[in-house]
Amino acid sequence: MRDDKNGAAPAFGGLAIDFSGDTGATTAVATATGGPSTATTGAGRVETKLVVVGSGPAGLTAAIYAARSNLEPIVLAGSAPGGQLMLTSDVENFPGFADGIQGPDLMAAMRVQAERFGSQLIDVDIERVDFSSRPFRIWARGTEYRAQSVIVATGASALWLGLDSETRLRGRGVSACATCDGFFFRDREIAVVGGGDTAFEEATYLTRFATKVHLLHRRDTFRASKIMVDRAIKHPKIEIHPNLAVEEILGDAKVEGVRLRDVKTGAESRLPVDGVFIAIGYEPNTAAFRDWLEVDEKGYLVVHDETGSKVDGVFIAGDVHDHRYRQAVTAAADGCKAAIDAERWLESQGIAEAATATAW
Ligand code: NDP
Repeated sequence: MRDDKNGAAPAFGGLAIDFSGDTGATTAVATATGGPSTATTGAGRVETKLVVVGSGPAGLTAAIYAARSNLEPIVLAGSAPGGQLMLTSDVENFPGFADGIQGPDLMAAMRVQAERFGSQLIDVDIERVDFSSRPFRIWARGTEYRAQSVIVATGASALWLGLDSETRLRGRGVSACATCDGFFFRDREIAVVGGGDTAFEEATYLTRFATKVHLLHRRDTFRASKIMVDRAIKHPKIEIHPNLAVEEILGDAKVEGVRLRDVKTGAESRLPVDGVFIAIGYEPNTAAFRDWLEVDEKGYLVVHDETGSKVDGVFIAGDVHDHRYRQAVTAAADGCKAAIDAERWLESQGIAEAATATAW
């Protein structure tokens, strides 16, 4: 399953650890390495060496590494912390969990691990930033955070249709990630919604598992590349249904089908399926950064030299820049790299002491 930075808490996956505690914003924190880490200057202002924005696998891995390097990071985790994995059930492709793990449990464990080494996690959404000079400034719920360096790990959010039934059945047959959940639909009939490259790629991928994949698109022309469309047309397991809008996902405890409307005739129909993959695109969570950092033509942040940005001291990790791999494990790896780069940069500025070889 993937990581999403903005979703609501899931209705599945037993949470063993409280993920939602509201830590105050302005208190200093004692760290595993000793002493209060974060200077509090009063009047809702906090100063620190490193702020990590985001708390999916990229943000929390950055926090684990930074904390173990004595950077005493503050993580502005978002009001719905944990990222896209909070919206998933079984995660079977994150290395180290041979029997799989629930997405929320994995994120709760990462959070505990980050806190254990002295990261301070604060469950607030950031409102705006000012990266014009150092210390960089970030505002969130009435507090101004001043940081010598920042790691942006705000992720991307899968777009959803916005149906109540879709929200209710998420993790119960509704998914936005074929790589993560395709395996659960072995020998089942499923639907993919969308007409872009993501939809066609996911439909093709899902034929490895499903007996049949119905591609449902609201128009009769596709944004997807011709080669992807041609491949799908020829595929014996894929049936393309143009001009159909999904009105409702059917089922109580799990997906049992979809109710469709023909956009040309208005005719309604039902299609029985066991799973529905929503593949209508992603939106990187970049709103607060667009005035300061480069954004590519798809809206994702642009990185230089692995994790750097155009602002010295501001680093980027995870799905907020990566529209290619979009996996929890690649986001985590990115967070690690960003923390190492931030630490080395702070050291070069004389702000952080050189990390020992064992700090990582
Ligand atoms: P796109 O924006 O290209 O396509 C989104 C699709 O979803 C469109 O067909 C759109 O329909 C449909 N859609 C959007 N909103 C709704 C809605 N509310 N209800 C029903 N349908 C909806 O997004 P993708 O994620 O497919 O691709 C994003 C970018 O990533 C593209 O540039 C793509 O080329 C690239 N990509 C490349 C891949 C590759 O090369 N292997 C794989 C995946 C993505 P409509 O057309 O009517 O607007």
